[in-house]
Amino acid sequence: MTDRSPLRDLSAPPFATRHIGPSDADRARMLEAVGYDSVADLVAVAVPGAIRSAEPLDLPEAASEEQAIAELRALAARNRTPVSMIGLGYHDTVTPAVIRRNLLENPGWYTAYTPYQPEISQGRLEALLNFQTMVADLTGLDVAGASLLDEATAAAEAMTLARRAGRAKSPVFVVDADALPQTKAVLATRAEPLGIELAEADLSAGLPDGELFGVLVQYPGAGGRLKDFRAVAEQAHARGALVVAAADLLALTLVEAPGTLGADIAIGSSQRFGVSFGFGGPHAAYMSVREGLQRQMPGRLVGVSLDGDGRPAYRLALQTREQHIRREKATSNICTAQVLLAVIASMYAVYHGPEGLRRIAQRTHRHAAVLAAGLREGGVEIVHDDFFDTVLARVPGRAAEVVAAALEQGVNLRLADADHVGVSCDEKTTGEHLRAVWEAFGVSGVVLEDLDTATADALPAALVRTTGYLAHPVFHSHRSETAMLRYLRRLQDKDIALDRSMIPLGSCTMKLNATTEMEPITWPEFAGVHPYAPAGQAEGYLELIGDLERWLAEVTGYDAVSLQPNAGSQGEFAGLLAIRAYHRANGEHERDVCLIPSSAHGTNAASAVMAGMRVVVVACDEDGNVDVPDLKAKIDKHRDRLAAIMVTYPSTHGVYEETITEICELVHQAGGQVYVDGANLNALVGLAKPGAFGADVSHLNLHKTFCIPHGGGGPGVGPVAVRAHLAAYLPGHPFEDGPVGPVSAAPHGSAGILPISWAYVRMMGAEGLKAATEQAILSANYLARRLAPHYPVLYTGREGVVAHECIIDLRQITKETGVTVDDVAKRLIDYGFHAPTMSFPVAGTLMIEPTESEDLAELDRFVDAMVAIREEIGKVASGGYDRDDNPLRGAPHTAESLLATEWSHPYTREEAAYPVASLRDGKYWSPVRRIDQAYGDRNLVCSCPPLEAYED
Ligand SMILES: *Cc1c(COP(=O)(O)O)cnc(C)c1O
Repeated sequence: MTDRSPLRDLSAPPFATRHIGPSDADRARMLEAVGYDSVADLVAVAVPGAIRSAEPLDLPEAASEEQAIAELRALAARNRTPVSMIGLGYHDTVTPAVIRRNLLENPGWYTAYTPYQPEISQGRLEALLNFQTMVADLTGLDVAGASLLDEATAAAEAMTLARRAGRAKSPVFVVDADALPQTKAVLATRAEPLGIELAEADLSAGLPDGELFGVLVQYPGAGGRLKDFRAVAEQAHARGALVVAAADLLALTLVEAPGTLGADIAIGSSQRFGVSFGFGGPHAAYMSVREGLQRQMPGRLVGVSLDGDGRPAYRLALQTREQHIRREKATSNICTAQVLLAVIASMYAVYHGPEGLRRIAQRTHRHAAVLAAGLREGGVEIVHDDFFDTVLARVPGRAAEVVAAALEQGVNLRLADADHVGVSCDEKTTGEHLRAVWEAFGVSGVVLEDLDTATADALPAALVRTTGYLAHPVFHSHRSETAMLRYLRRLQDKDIALDRSMIPLGSCTMKLNATTEMEPITWPEFAGVHPYAPAGQAEGYLELIGDLERWLAEVTGYDAVSLQPNAGSQGEFAGLLAIRAYHRANGEHERDVCLIPSSAHGTNAASAVMAGMRVVVVACDEDGNVDVPDLKAKIDKHRDRLAAIMVTYPSTHGVYEETITEICELVHQAGGQVYVDGANLNALVGLAKPGAFGADVSHLNLHKTFCIPHGGGGPGVGPVAVRAHLAAYLPGHPFEDGPVGPVSAAPHGSAGILPISWAYVRMMGAEGLKAATEQAILSANYLARRLAPHYPVLYTGREGVVAHECIIDLRQITKETGVTVDDVAKRLIDYGFHAPTMSFPVAGTLMIEPTESEDLAELDRFVDAMVAIREEIGKVASGGYDRDDNPLRGAPHTAESLLATEWSHPYTREEAAYPVASLRDGKYWSPVRRIDQAYGDRNLVCSCPPLEAYED
């Protein structure tokens, strides 16, 4: 072999050079600024030697983008997508192409962050408010939230809400025998650690005797039956219990709303409003509640408030961050939810409007009614007379045979048990499908058209909907494709997402979501697989999942990985359940204390509470590290009851603690397990492995480190990774018994977005992943070094080096000048940037994480903005600007506010709009002035305001 290979030299540069922003020349300049000769030198100082991996990652050689797509095509080709009439809470649906391409496949929507900065999030907040309005209307309840993770976990959240909000002291929660089986399974997982007793009951004859704090009714049931639950609700209320209805949104366009029937809480999935199966997700669950319960609701709630000019503006209500995640007083650990999918579902309703939804529902129902009539004509017994879309047929001893025969015809049916087959119709059902089903049942000679004329609807008269819904103009104004396209564009343009500028959020890793990674998720072979399709239809998926589990185990140094948790919070819960089950298997039932450092992310303590543990807080020293003497004291005090410690590594302060291996040893010696929160894995990949430096279990956030986009606040995937001794206690399959139950409705959680992370690892390879981590560390140190002359940088490790993020401290500045972190964050909007993370983990500070994807020009543009803002602060300090009326306090400035005839401020309009020259080209204009948070919480409005609200 010779060294000379012109063809090799001319091949495309590896994908890693596209993913990583800075070039070699940029890197040289950054190293010079930081004062190191090489990246290796910097990393050797930053990352403690004790945790460094000696070996490179054992991963397949990096693939090119074309190669990765070809391999994904081959995997996709091994999935099969017959017509799916399985039902069980998942129904086929058409994603309108205008929504698919301009929303789901559009980085303007999918790369946005959670709307904590409401001024630059008005577009997605409006879309979420539409979602809330839609859900509140359809369920007939007063207030709806902005999405939960899936129907089963929403049911669990409703159960715990009922327990804390109700009057009854009983530990019993009654569950409808006709509830979805995965809902029952997740309820069981969630109930047990909290001491809640589940009682399954056939509710057709009313509520069984006895005390209870709540009851869940499935409406319609898993077997299709549509039942009026008014009597059950009355009986429950008479005993001081709350009523949860798990309801199908499409059915609700035809049948009476759960709120009208007496439900206090409604939950369910919005999947069939335009969101594909994706082998189980992601899909947005919903929750709505009656007046009086809204302040207890888990998840995010969008509300209306006023901006600085007195105009209506949207923001997240009732929370500085997530108010239900109140550490040890937490009532839920939901953080990342399903924003992108909730937005799709809301747009589906906006596009179809109430009449369109009703037509889709009627068509679905008629297919089911005609299907049942045909089966009856052929002598097949139909179990329920009243149903919406699902027909349950009784075929004693023949069910498996019928299901197999249907598959021969290209149709999946549900094998309910040996004697029963379930058939669910949906938006896409056709006469052809009905004929195939009849044939599978051995029914012939049915003439569909004749039956259609002769068959009455199967909706019970008492339940036919009389209450209206979706009267707001937004559900009537965007019916043509042009109008829809422009509505989507108008909302998108109001927001800052990664397609516009860097989003320097500490702890959230807003890196590139590459187009090649995103493309496969809308391929029909990935999007079209039902979560409970026979395993043989998902071979491609199962191989992809196996690859990703193996690769993540290699990256983290653990032995086994489950991809089931559909957010980081759920991964934490699953990891703690594994620890709990392990102690119990060893006969150590009393181990229930979870040590958590005071700097931890709020979800940690919340998850511990959900897993039935007692939280004991460990102090941090002034450098932000775990205070080891305090840790030792707490271990001593709780030695016999110690279950676990949960630490974030690198710490939430962005520092690699030198003592991590000692912390692991101390906890192990006392018989506890070590949970390392892996949300900051972007500082470790390729350099160190938590499973190798002493931890027993971690969750990762694929929506942070592994390129799944944030979607405006979800979807996410939070895999849980464990060492071998905990492998048996990973989350189980919803339909199988195991030592630990499922934490999500679908066996593989949000499988539909796993191709993104698969493609990332496949295209980066071991070297690329390591290079990304090294660049993330270099970029953070570059920013820290450039900002340090202007703002104090908090918490550094050895030689003043930080990890992958840095914290700048504004507390002294605020004291001296009155300029707050809020002022700086809002002023950054005028400069075209999303603010860094505000006041977490330390109040009065900003946490900045540049990620490896931002190039040097963008990092410098951000530094320039921060330096210019510091100069503005200086002018406030020196009296050059008024303390109360200056460009910082006035930020953000809308075009309208600057174009007003009257301009009474002591600073100029030009200073407000164009503080740096580069803004003259393509400036982002905030759509609203600064939003009054307190006003919105005092005057809570969580559905679309009437149009008059916008009039002067
Ligand atoms: C993001 C994050 C979490 C929670 O993850 P979600 O997916 O939002 O539930 C937990 N811990 C840390 C340190 C995080 O940054």
